[in-house]
Formats: sequence, structure tokens, C-alpha cells
Amino acid sequence: MRKPLIAGNWKMYKNATEGAKLARSLKRSLRDVKDREIVIAPPFATLPAVSRAIAGGNIGLAAQNMHHQDEGAFTGEVSADMLLSVGVGYVIIGHSERRQYFGETNKGCLEKITKALGSGLVPIYCIGETLGERKRGRTFAVVEKQIREGLAGLSRTDAKGVVIAYEPIWAIGTGKTATPQIAQEVHARIRGIIKELFGAGVARAVRILYGGSVKPGNVDTLMAEKDIDGALVGGASLDAKSFSRIVKYVS
Ligand code: PEP
Repeated sequence: MRKPLIAGNWKMYKNATEGAKLARSLKRSLRDVKDREIVIAPPFATLPAVSRAIAGGNIGLAAQNMHHQDEGAFTGEVSADMLLSVGVGYVIIGHSERRQYFGETNKGCLEKITKALGSGLVPIYCIGETLGERKRGRTFAVVEKQIREGLAGLSRTDAKGVVIAYEPIWAIGTGKTATPQIAQEVHARIRGIIKELFGAGVARAVRILYGGSVKPGNVDTLMAEKDIDGALVGGASLDAKSFSRIVKYVS
């Protein structure tokens, strides 16, 4: 059985004081949740404060990005080792906002995923199509390319350790959620591609999260789909009550 994973991407919201407050509140309200993996991804500068706030609880810490090199003259970048040193266990890679505004590519994502896996960080690899691509019937082709290039050459063991987040770009921050049927269709296809590349065992084990305007009001039906193993939540993760309700989905 794949353990469901619910991750909150705080993007560039909340300073250290606000982030620690939200994290303490989540720690309290989610302390009894045992059958789900819970992760929050605050901005880099607030990771130490949030890490202290969730210490000893059941919430994991993610970064929103990282550099693939160990160290060097890469102004403004952060390494895997730096993340580990402040208690980070997961890293979001290739979020559509990073692809759109910072020119991230599938090849660059592969370098980061490889580094994350080698360092003991769990990569959460984001893929998804634009509205134009969906309208042109290109959804499957786009996600297939993102998977083939972003996971190229990984061993089966490494591939098993990757979490994939399917986030249709037209659903991110827009309030337009994919219907459970649309999401399930793409998730099943993603699992099929993983099976082709890495075999049935890896395909069965890999967790595929859905992301794109997940809210307390739609999480239950999304999570009822058989290939949806969790959610990557943006806006609704910034409020303790709504993120807690999403984590405690009923399906
Ligand atoms: C995201 O940032 O990954 C996301 C899915 O955002 P939202 O939930 O706000 O659409």
C-alpha cells in the first residue's frame, strides 16, 4: 500500500514569525494523524524557524528548490547538504512556477533529482501541461516527456524514491481543479509510463500526488481515485484550518 502524502507549498508567503506560528498550529491539529505523511514547504529563509516549530512531531519539512552541486560560486543557490543541516527531508523539484519564471528544464530537474536522491532527500518532481497543451490534446505527450527526461537513467531503487506531483498548470492558483476523472486519467497514464520505464514493482510503489487548487471542498473526491496518492497544495496550505482539513480528507 502506498502511504498517502499531503504536502503544502507555501511559495513566497509567510516570514519566519508567521511561518513558525502556522507550523505550531499544524503540529497541534495534526498530531494524531498517523496513516498519512504530512509535509510543509516554507521559503528557504524560514526553514530553520519552521523546523524548530515542528520538531518532535509528525510533519516533515521540504524545500521548494535546491541546486544540484555540492557547493561553489552559485550566488543565491542552496545545496542539499545545507537543507539537510536544517532538518529538511524533502525537496520540490521542477514546480511549474520555477519552469515558467526561472527557466527550469527537464534536464536540470534530473540533475537535481539525482542529487536529492544521493543525499537522502525525497524529491517531489512536478509535471503538468498548460491549458493550450491540454486543448491541443497534448497532455499525455507533455507529461510523458517530462517523466522520460526528468527521470532518465535512474535505477529502479532510485525511481521508487521519487514522488511525482501531477499539477496541470491551468489548475494552479486559478481555483479551477481538474475533475477527479481527469486527474485519475492522467495519473493512470503516468503510472503506465513508470511501469514501462522501471517495471511493475516501481509503478506500484511510486506515489503520484495531484496538485492544482486542492481545497477542503474537493480533496475527498480527488483522494477517492485509485491512482491519486496525495496532494500538493498551494494556497490552501497557508491556513491551518484548511490545510488540516485537507490532510484529514475522507474518502
Ligand atoms: C502549487 O503551488 O503547487 C499549487 C498546486 O497551488 P494551488 O493549490 O494554489 O493551486
